[in-house]
Amino acid sequence: MSVNENCQQVFGAVKRACDRSGRDPADITIVAVTKYATIETAREAAAAGLAHFGENRAEEGVAKAEALPDTIVWHFIGRLQSKKVKKMLNHFTYIHSLDRLSLAKEIDKRLPEGEKKKCFVQVNVFGEDSKTGTVPEETLPFIRQLADYPAVEVIGLMTMAPLTADEDRLRKGFAALRQLRDQVQDEALMHAPCTELSMGMSNDYELAIEEGATFIRIGSDLVGSENKT
Ligand SMILES: *Cc1c(COP(=O)(O)O)cnc(C)c1O
Repeated sequence: MSVNENCQQVFGAVKRACDRSGRDPADITIVAVTKYATIETAREAAAAGLAHFGENRAEEGVAKAEALPDTIVWHFIGRLQSKKVKKMLNHFTYIHSLDRLSLAKEIDKRLPEGEKKKCFVQVNVFGEDSKTGTVPEETLPFIRQLADYPAVEVIGLMTMAPLTADEDRLRKGFAALRQLRDQVQDEALMHAPCTELSMGMSNDYELAIEEGATFIRIGSDLVGSENKT
């Protein structure tokens, strides 16, 4: 299937998941994860109407951002090393993987005075050893501490689900992230409006939408998984 056909299929599935859960597709941002894709394929995705792209590596992401139309909004979705922050900060509007104070400190140091970076705090709600992210019990204290870094704006929470067909487990994890997001919102912290939920990938985005996702990150189903890393 072409990238355009993939897109139409995903748009249809997003709409159906919204219909099932009484949501408006306009409230869901599809982030096309181009980490597996060539620049050519990424161009096709842009031509098919996708405007938000995600990358998980600083160098490759910057190279793609420079090669593609500058109307595209870039999301950093991978583990971010502090030493890479400086080179990627200009190119990426969103960071989905804030998981430690040292990274917040680096973002705060590198961003020009007065500017803010939209960040998601990554949470390991599925409790998998291999996944990065804050543990749920530590998420709220962590977010309170982020007040010390004015460049960091916590716009929401992000999680990455395990690759599983266990719908019940997926739903529970997504619901747990939503409840945690609501708790953060209840604190009414100036630096953490925390209105968004970045959850759902090719395997599970329909469930994630039903559980409240506002950003879904889709790679394989949109741009294929050639060069999968
Ligand atoms: C690769 C990746 C995705 C996309 O995964 P697919 O299963 O190909 O849709 C989403 N989020 C993160 C953090 C990723 O690393």
